[in-house]
Amino acid sequence: MKLANRLVLILGDQLDLQGAALRNFKHETDEIIMIESANEAQYVWTHKAKIALFLSSMRHFAKTLEDQKYPLTYIKESPLSIIEVLRQQILQKNISHLVCIEPGEWRLRKSIEALATELNIELEILEDEHFYCSPQEFKNWVADKKEIRLEYFYRLMRKTHQILIDADGNPEGGQWNFDQDNRKPYPKKGPGLIDAPKSFEPDEITQEVLDFVSKTYKEHPGSLDHFNWAVTREQALESLQYFIDYRLRHFGMYQDAMWTNTPFGWHSVISSALNLKLLNPREVIAAVMLAWKKDPSLELSNIEGFTRQILGWREFVRGMYYLDMPQMAQDNFYEHQRALPKWYWTGQTQMACMQDAIGQTLQYGYAHHIQRLMVTGNFALLAEILPSQVCDWYLAVYVDAIEWVELPNTAGMALFANGGRFTSKPYIASGAYIKRMSNYCGTCKYKPDVRFGESACPITTLYWNFLIKHRAQFEASPRTRLMTANLKRISDSDQLSIQEHAKVLLNNLDDL
Ligand SMILES: Cc1cc2nc3c(=O)[nH]c(=O)nc-3n(C[C@H](O)[C@H](O)[C@H](O)COP(=O)(O)OP(=O)(O)OC[C@H]3O[C@@H](n4cnc5c(N)ncnc54)[C@H](O)[C@@H]3O)c2cc1C
Ligand code: SF4
Repeated sequence: MKLANRLVLILGDQLDLQGAALRNFKHETDEIIMIESANEAQYVWTHKAKIALFLSSMRHFAKTLEDQKYPLTYIKESPLSIIEVLRQQILQKNISHLVCIEPGEWRLRKSIEALATELNIELEILEDEHFYCSPQEFKNWVADKKEIRLEYFYRLMRKTHQILIDADGNPEGGQWNFDQDNRKPYPKKGPGLIDAPKSFEPDEITQEVLDFVSKTYKEHPGSLDHFNWAVTREQALESLQYFIDYRLRHFGMYQDAMWTNTPFGWHSVISSALNLKLLNPREVIAAVMLAWKKDPSLELSNIEGFTRQILGWREFVRGMYYLDMPQMAQDNFYEHQRALPKWYWTGQTQMACMQDAIGQTLQYGYAHHIQRLMVTGNFALLAEILPSQVCDWYLAVYVDAIEWVELPNTAGMALFANGGRFTSKPYIASGAYIKRMSNYCGTCKYKPDVRFGESACPITTLYWNFLIKHRAQFEASPRTRLMTANLKRISDSDQLSIQEHAKVLLNNLDDL
């Protein structure tokens, strides 16, 4: 038996043959290990489609490695944790050197480090090259900043990587930001015909995974009926090209719009492929720039809007994650303690907006950004839910959820749990916003403009209640003063009725 002394651990979200882990691989002495661990599917109550996506993508990647004659130990369906399996394997194989790319979850990095110390082996943690900005570069950027804001980071990324910068070094089109063009609701008649994102019929490997998941995790949330995600690099590239050819054109304008039975809108639906590292953000940006060059009828506002998501937000939240962990997972600025309503796991609520956003989440493992931020996230903040329960839910139900991206978005952006470390104000809105951006309210039993009483929209009641409760905090900042200014138009007695109605709602969240 060949004794490997260098073991390369490839985690389920590190599926790139060109990645740093395999760059200096020596076939004579090195060995790869991949581990399917039940623990990873169970530490939060994971959506079946997310489990299936990870397992199928890992098995396809393993097949590619085997086809290319890499020495691979693939541990299938282990009931043990990744760390327990690793310990066994390291001891059995007499490993002296463990290599892995920076894990996307803090707890995993810490436990790998602890294992290496316990077994007294060398540990090499390599940079994840699927980002433009390393955690250290981000830390350096933050060092002299009074306020950490996306906008300035994004401009730096644009300049550093010469993306959408003209020959004179200025932003293309003369401005950095076209957000005001990218916030339109769908036309009153609805979104019309939308080209569905590229989908893929399950092959033999995926089918075997789907059978396994539906048997083993039958009590877990979500459905496998619509499982058609990209699970290989080739499919991920096809999804990207399909988006660019057919859907990018309308992405920007309608990126905040919502409509019933329109789960994907004009969004790219490539986050899971990016996060599993089947795609590299550099090739995504390059493909978008090429498309723009070839087709000048693609609007700059659209191209900039998409670039901002990948080069701006995606990089920014990752930087924040490594900067602020482990504190980020503990933060609870408003000291909210309520339990997550049970219907977050079933979609069975009378609020049409929540029903739609959660319903499609359970069907597909997907909701777009505004559904996550301004529907389920907004409600969770206004309903004073304990941040850790909300974060666990997001981590469980979205196929693209890995902690480095889920946690800053949920705790930092949606819940303001870190007190605005990187946002200037809480993202809260009443039913009026949802009415403006969707058709949800039309079929809802509640009325978005009614603030209290039986027909009042719970989101509207809780919004005003939140503003009344935190009035002093909102008034202290010029960015939020305007929000409480509107309170002056509500009489004292109506404010009292709002608070009383809110108290009833908050004590009976499961019944909404
Ligand atoms: C509460 C909350 C939780 C979220 N959890 C996750 C998560 O677990 N995983 C995840 O990938 N995204 C998360 N997001 C960000 C965003 O909602 C998803 O990236 C996006 O909806 C994925 O769909 P898409 O590929 O169609 O994206 P598009 O809207 O087409 O955007 C293109 C790409 O930009 C990137 N992107 C856009 N917005 C963000 C953002 N805020 N942060 C990081 N990257 C972004 C993604 O890679 C995305 O694929 C979360 C947002 C919120 C508000
Ligand atoms: S009325 Fe309120 S609860 Fe109903 S869909 Fe509109 S915003 Fe949602």
